[in-house]
Amino acid sequence: MRIVIILVMTMLVSSVLAQSDSGVKYARQIDTLDLKKYVYKMASDEMEGRKTGSAGLEKAAAFIESQYRSIGLQPVLNNGTSYRQEFELVKSSPEINHIVLNGQALINGVDYIFEGDMDMPQAKEDTLILLSKTQLESPGQLDIKDKVVAFTRLDDPFKNFSLYKKLTELKPDLIIQIVHTQSLEAFLGASQNSGERGTYMTLNPFERKGFGRVYMDMARLVKVTGYTRKDLLEDGAEISIDYHIRRKKERVKTSNLLGVIAGEQASNGVVVISAHYDHEGIKKGVLYPGADDNASGVAGLLEIAQAFQMAYEGGFRFKKSILFVMFSAEEDGLLGSGFLTKNSPFPLSDITVNLNIDMIGRVAPEYDGFEEYIYLAKSDKLSKQLHRISERVNDKFTGLTLDYSYNSPDHPLQVFKRGDHWSFAKEGVPVIFYFDGIHDDYHRPTDKADRINYGLLQLRSNLVFQTAWSIVSAEGALELKKQR
Ligand SMILES: [Zn+2]
Repeated sequence: MRIVIILVMTMLVSSVLAQSDSGVKYARQIDTLDLKKYVYKMASDEMEGRKTGSAGLEKAAAFIESQYRSIGLQPVLNNGTSYRQEFELVKSSPEINHIVLNGQALINGVDYIFEGDMDMPQAKEDTLILLSKTQLESPGQLDIKDKVVAFTRLDDPFKNFSLYKKLTELKPDLIIQIVHTQSLEAFLGASQNSGERGTYMTLNPFERKGFGRVYMDMARLVKVTGYTRKDLLEDGAEISIDYHIRRKKERVKTSNLLGVIAGEQASNGVVVISAHYDHEGIKKGVLYPGADDNASGVAGLLEIAQAFQMAYEGGFRFKKSILFVMFSAEEDGLLGSGFLTKNSPFPLSDITVNLNIDMIGRVAPEYDGFEEYIYLAKSDKLSKQLHRISERVNDKFTGLTLDYSYNSPDHPLQVFKRGDHWSFAKEGVPVIFYFDGIHDDYHRPTDKADRINYGLLQLRSNLVFQTAWSIVSAEGALELKKQR
């Protein structure tokens, strides 16, 4: 209720303050009922959680295409006949022939969990190098190239991370990380990102090449090797290992979906408004609907596109072109946006800005009870004008609290690098990333459509719309000239 009242007031105040702001009339096209319809559709069972390569994602793509068509966006691909930018990925998954420790064959998923990307033409026998605490103090001195090493993780997760990184730089064949916990799955659960560990996709041609990583728990290692904990921890144990690990590779086709509203001149610049439409799919029989991640962004983008198209059909001509993009394969490592920035229908030097929307329908716990906020991550180093426009538009039209907490490149969660905007930012394109934070349903089966705050989704979509409007219309376009 509270949100509805505030929205009505915001609209009244805005229209009085901003008679000349022509976008306001069209912003009203961004409608909570339509947003809700789109989120429910994208998060429905028939879309199967929208895993890249699945039939569900193809259904989502076909639905988005049909919406682009009914909105009236212009296709730019295949000589202006198609919205689809199709591309090929390679899906690679581990195939473990065997891992045998001291004569005992181990089972993946029971005795250990494998991830990593090694592919061995033939089996290998070796002796396990158990790294002692002292050796771990200065891993730079170790000679472990092409060897199998095991180490016990330290208590500090950040230290573990850098230790692991240092070990990988020494190029061992296989790293066994010993965890002190009852359940390996529980230890890994929080970080689990894809259905099958060690399975991932890359842009074709297949380019990652590396080493194996195995997680084992201490109790299991004691049982299998016959050594005591103390032997194992103090480097007094000798363990033989015989292993053969291969990879299976298959090709996967998927598409980004692109639609355009043409500006006066392409050389005036292009504003890219984007959202990814893929998600996690079905894992172990459980559907991950991805209502906030990122059906909310898809819904917002469709409504924003419709508002712009209405203005265009009403006779408005924009200084800059607007390219609407729905990315595939974001969850597999920003692959769709990575492909687009390497195969853009417009030269990257003409892209003025990327406004990327990824999760804008929920309230993170830190904002419980105070809902009108949005996290922005942006490249203000690349564009101070963009920052000013974004702030001014928000003051004038949406009045959200703009929270820049995730903006720092030093933030431990590295949010700035964890969305499709990063594919643009690393090419020097100014970006703004719109994001509601990390909530309890993030990447869980409970990220459902009935948990979305649709009033808030509308308000945040409106912020993106007004920011884009300001950049493509006359005054903003002048202020934000071609950057590079
Ligand atoms: Zn996402």
